[in-house]
Amino acid sequence: MEYRRFGKTNENISVITLGGMRFKHGWNLPRNHLPAESVKNCIEIVQKAIDLGINHFETAYGYMKSEHLFGKVLKEIGVPRKNYKMMTKGAPMTGGETRKLVEEQLNALKLEKIDFYGWHGINNEERFRTAIQKGGPVEELHKLKEEGIIGHIGFSTHGSLDLITKALETDLFSFVNLHFYYFFQRHLPAVELAEKKDIGVFIISPNEKGGMLWNPSKKVRELCAPLTPIQFNGRFCLSHPQITTLSMGIHEIDQFEQNISILTGKNYAKDNEYLNVKKAVDNPLETLSERCTLCDQCLPCPENINIPEVLRFKNLLKSYDMIAYGKYRYNMLEEKDHWFPGAFASKCTKCGDCLPRCPENLQIPTLLFETHNELFLKWNYFKKTIYEFLKNVYKTLMKKN
Ligand code: SF4
Ligand code: SF4
Repeated sequence: MEYRRFGKTNENISVITLGGMRFKHGWNLPRNHLPAESVKNCIEIVQKAIDLGINHFETAYGYMKSEHLFGKVLKEIGVPRKNYKMMTKGAPMTGGETRKLVEEQLNALKLEKIDFYGWHGINNEERFRTAIQKGGPVEELHKLKEEGIIGHIGFSTHGSLDLITKALETDLFSFVNLHFYYFFQRHLPAVELAEKKDIGVFIISPNEKGGMLWNPSKKVRELCAPLTPIQFNGRFCLSHPQITTLSMGIHEIDQFEQNISILTGKNYAKDNEYLNVKKAVDNPLETLSERCTLCDQCLPCPENINIPEVLRFKNLLKSYDMIAYGKYRYNMLEEKDHWFPGAFASKCTKCGDCLPRCPENLQIPTLLFETHNELFLKWNYFKKTIYEFLKNVYKTLMKKN
């Protein structure tokens, strides 16, 4: 295993983190009921992680059974406390809620202290303000830190570069969990700012959100050869010395091999094999016509379309045939609220507001409609709409009774 210093926390953690959001039946209610199969799955995975030298586990209150599973399993296996660091997250809205929530999380994790606590989801301005308000959650987390209950305070984010920059500039945080991958490099300035401020950088879901790399297109697979897409993207991330760790939601034993094979023990930024692959992978995007440079200048759109993100999918489709990934991410729009904001591209009214702002002179509405037609899953949308409708009817009936 390789280890890196996690910014100003000064802790050395493994460059691979075991993310705990996918254990078997882990999302079923109730959160503290642990089926034997879930426990068995978690024991196998945690034991293997420890054997491989992984010393950092990541969970969240929002991951349903995950904290309870880690709590039970780490005790059952008997992992000495000094041998691992635990990160958990939560999104309490007030100072009072914060203390109560952290107590509940400590109980679930069966720990006296949480090494890294991240405010979960600084995703938009409103949540940012809520988190850092006077007397609010982050202030309370700092009190808990002074009391020795929390080791270090950070935040996770699915928000824009501007928002991440603002949050980093507050100097309230020692680490940040964000998106940054080969196929999504928009947050590089945030990664660089984090380095300047000595803030540890944790990469969220590099294999899935980073491009669904366990199910790559034929073109991606061929361009990455002789590396696998997972190896290529992992080495791309680790070629940035600012990045400390990559979180892998491993939940099957055979997933360890492909993730561990990212590691070479070399200087990733200077490794010839990696650099040759990168040159090959760079080429299709660099030579793409009608390429969106993700400069954000077309925003805001009055219909709340996240134009650069939709056109990023278009770039990836045209350059790398990334259809499965495009469908997976695009169809999360209008469903995940602030976790993945923006309307479907079909909501474009062709008002033309964005056109004069685009330095590439792209025909934005045409490209948006094309992307929508290629990625939108009608049947899925229909099923989700029916499901939401029935859920609301059920809730109304329950209220009446
Ligand atoms: S043309 Fe479409 S994408 Fe552009 S600003 Fe108008 S609604 Fe938004
Ligand atoms: S202004 Fe043009 S190039 Fe920039 S993000 Fe918008 S569509 Fe892409």
